[in-house]
Amino acid sequence: MPFSKFNLCPLILKALEQNDYSTPTPIQEKVIPLVLQKHDIMAKAQTGSGKTASFVLPILNIYSQNKALGKAKIKALILTPTRELTLQVANSFDIFSEFLEKKPKVVSVIGGQSIGDQLLDIQKGCDIVVATPGRLLDIIKKGQINLSNLEFFVLDEADKMLDLGFEDELELVLNSLPDIRQNLLFSATYPPKMLEIASKITQNPTEVSIAFEEPTVQTIKQRAIEVNLENRSALLRDIISNEKLEQVLVFMANKRASDNIASKFRKYGLKAESFHGDLIQEDRNITLENFKTKKTNILFATDIAARGLHIDDISCVVNYDLPRSADDYIHRIGRTGRAGKSGLAISFITLENKEHFKLIQKRSNIKLDFEQVEGFELIGNPIEKQKGKEPIKGKRKSKKDKLREQNENKSN
Ligand code: AMP
Repeated sequence: MPFSKFNLCPLILKALEQNDYSTPTPIQEKVIPLVLQKHDIMAKAQTGSGKTASFVLPILNIYSQNKALGKAKIKALILTPTRELTLQVANSFDIFSEFLEKKPKVVSVIGGQSIGDQLLDIQKGCDIVVATPGRLLDIIKKGQINLSNLEFFVLDEADKMLDLGFEDELELVLNSLPDIRQNLLFSATYPPKMLEIASKITQNPTEVSIAFEEPTVQTIKQRAIEVNLENRSALLRDIISNEKLEQVLVFMANKRASDNIASKFRKYGLKAESFHGDLIQEDRNITLENFKTKKTNILFATDIAARGLHIDDISCVVNYDLPRSADDYIHRIGRTGRAGKSGLAISFITLENKEHFKLIQKRSNIKLDFEQVEGFELIGNPIEKQKGKEPIKGKRKSKKDKLREQNENKSN
C-alpha cells in the first residue's frame, strides 16, 4: 500500500518518492492516520521500525495546511534523549518538507553547541523545535522560549530518556507546556515507570504496538563467538577480513578502549574511528558522516551510539564488550538489519562474561550456540563471579546519580 492512501500533501509524497520511501512500515501504517485524526498516541516501537517518519509526516502534513502568516510560532516540540537523535529527527523534517511551498523552520536545541545561536534561531521565529531535555530546560529557565502555541508534543525513545536519568528534566519541561496539545509517545519498552509517565503526558491515548516488531530483529543473524579476552582484537580483524564485512559497528565498554582500539586498527591500515560522548559535537558529526559515507568502515563506539542512529548500511554489529542489559543487547543489534535488510550481530564471549551472556540470552529469549574460530579457541575455565563486600549504603553514588553525571554534559 503506498503512502498516497494517507491523503498526504502531494509535495510531501514527492519528497517520500525522492527518498525511496515507497511503502509505509507497519508502525507508519498505524500511527500516521491516527495522528492525522488528532489522537494522542502511546506507541511501542523500536528504532529501525520507521517510527520517526510516523510522526514527522503527519505533523508536516498538518503544518502544510496551515496558512498562518507572520512570525512563526512553535507548533511542535520533539524531545529526544540524545544529540544525535535530535539532529536526525530535525533532518527528517528538513528532508520531507523539501518541496513544501513554505518550509517549516526547524531548530535543533542540543548541548555541545552555542546556546546563543540556538536562542537567536528560536527568537527569529520557528515552527518546530527538536531538543534534548537538558539544553531545552536551560532555555526554558531563561524565559527565552514561548511554547504557549504548541500543538504537538512528541517524546521519542522515552525509555532511553529515563535510562539516562532525565526524569526530573522531563517533568519540568512538561510543566512548561500548554495543557491542550496532541501527545505522541514512542518507547521501545513500557516498564511500570514508563506507564506512570505516559499517564502524565498523554490523555486517553490510542495504544499502538506492532505485532510483528520482532522481524526487525529476526532478520539479524546472531552469533556468539568464544574467545579469550586478549585475543578479541586479532579475532575481530580476522573476521572482518575473512568475512569481507564492509560497515562494522563495534561496541566497546568505555571511551578509552574505543579510542585505543581504533588507533590500533588504523596502524594495521584499517579505516577505523572511535565515536563516544567525549567528542565535541562537530567531531561526532564528522565521525558519523565518515562512517555513513563509507570513508571509514569500522566504527568503535560506546553505548551512546546504540540507539537512534540512522545508518542503514551497517553490515555487522560486534559486541566486543557485552552490553549491561538484555534491552541494550536488543538495541545494539538493532543497528544492523534495518529497514528490512538482513544483518549480522556477533558477540564475543570470554571466560569473564559467559555467565552474563547467558543471562542476556535468557532475558531476551534467545539461545545461540557458542562458536569457536580456528586459531582463536577459548582456553581456560569460566570465571566464577567473586562475591565482594556489600556496598555501604550512602557511601556510593546511586546508578541514577552516576548516569546523570555522565550525561549532563554529554547527551545534552
Ligand atoms: P527509524 O526507526 O525512524 O529510525 O527508521 C529506520 C530507518 O528506516 C531510517 O533510516 C529510515 O530512513 C528508514 N525508513 C523508515 N521508513 C521507511 C520507509 N517507509 N521506506 C523506506 N525506508 C524507511
